[in-house]
Amino acid sequence: MIIATGLDELRTARLLLDPEVGLVPTMGYLHEGHLSLIRKAKAECRSVVVSIFVNPTQFAPTEDLAKYPRDLERDLKLIEPIGVDLVWNPTPEIMYPSGYQTWVEVDALTKRLEGAMRPTHFKGVTTVVAKLFNAVQPQRAYFGQKDAQQAAVIRRMTRDLDFPVEIVVCPIVREPDGLAMSSRNKYLEGDDRKAALVLFRALSAAKDAYQAGERDAEVLRRKMKEVIQAEPRAQMQYVSCADYDSLEELESVSGKTLLSMAVLIGKTRLIDNFVLE
Ligand code: AMP
Repeated sequence: MIIATGLDELRTARLLLDPEVGLVPTMGYLHEGHLSLIRKAKAECRSVVVSIFVNPTQFAPTEDLAKYPRDLERDLKLIEPIGVDLVWNPTPEIMYPSGYQTWVEVDALTKRLEGAMRPTHFKGVTTVVAKLFNAVQPQRAYFGQKDAQQAAVIRRMTRDLDFPVEIVVCPIVREPDGLAMSSRNKYLEGDDRKAALVLFRALSAAKDAYQAGERDAEVLRRKMKEVIQAEPRAQMQYVSCADYDSLEELESVSGKTLLSMAVLIGKTRLIDNFVLE
């Protein structure tokens, strides 16, 4: 497994790989969710590249960039046995050298949900993913359904800018009790860990209602709200029942639908979602 830092190092190593490359972009502090993406890339592509980069431009000044968990040595130990060919771990200065001023932005799709709460977030995400695509030139790139809006935005960007990359979206990996795995779960201590299950419970309540025949999107949103409001440690930021691709809020559910939410548990911000097919 080659570990590259600089862009030249990355390009030289990339040229030696079989060109059927699968890329898995991550911010590190890997867990089973990330590893499921890497394993899928390994099963489907002749070469696998994993990027590990805590991208400063997708964090607002008030967010957790400085304390975001990092442990490269541990990450490399987890990746190695899967048979990854190349790990790219650039520094912020390599990605954004002095004088940097070019950005990639997706329009309407980034104004809703996460984008409404975190107005500069997706500009950082699309810019860094576009840079990763240009540097690594993968045939396929693997993203998690955990970040459902991110996956929709990346699909849109890839289509709009004609990147010759197939976007593969992989299912959410959960803890046995239903909590979606996330590097930020590390922040959950004591009673907060238990309270964090409220996201899974709220999504399950809406899904149960849907499976029992409920198609009124407002009723599904209300079900999720009620469950969250019953948990004293939880503070709801939004709940949504939206079209899977456009992310527009629905009145009634017919096609592929995304139930999603963001909830603060203490100071920790968690997101989760279910897809209704
Ligand atoms: P991150 O390191 O948080 O930027 O995540 C890197 C990739 O892993 C993104 O495409 C995420 O959607 C994906 N991911 C994170 N958590 C999970 C999970 N629990 N299940 C599946 N994919 C995940």
